[in-house]
Amino acid sequence: MIGYRKELWFEAPTRRAFINITSQVEECLRDSGVREGLALVNAMHITASVFINDDESGLHRDYDHWLERLAPHEPVSAYQHNRTGEDNADAHMKRQIMGREAVVAVTEGKLDFGPWEQIFYGEFDGRRRKRVLVKIVGE
Ligand code: ZN
Repeated sequence: MIGYRKELWFEAPTRRAFINITSQVEECLRDSGVREGLALVNAMHITASVFINDDESGLHRDYDHWLERLAPHEPVSAYQHNRTGEDNADAHMKRQIMGREAVVAVTEGKLDFGPWEQIFYGEFDGRRRKRVLVKIVGE
């Protein structure tokens, strides 16, 4: 069995961003040599997500508006977590609902997606370097 591990680094210039990381995960899969198995892709930070959905800019704006309605960034004083001196309580909540990780089947050396599926890094407290873990296991 092959076990492959790689960390991908991102630094979003804005507080919130959605970044399509599919091609980087595909590159990891090629490097791994795995033909049949599973690929796990997870955010290594508790204010960021990895999720699978459509690469459609209107949908991404809809996500952003929806998440801001659920957990608005302002006023930061509305959150108990921010009494620690942080201002990112909303980012923890946005990460929770958008999820920590994506798992994709690997079949014949390819990510075995459904129609329109792409992998995204969701950033909710950006403007600093953060990591995504790619773990691929199989043969
Ligand atoms: Zn925090």
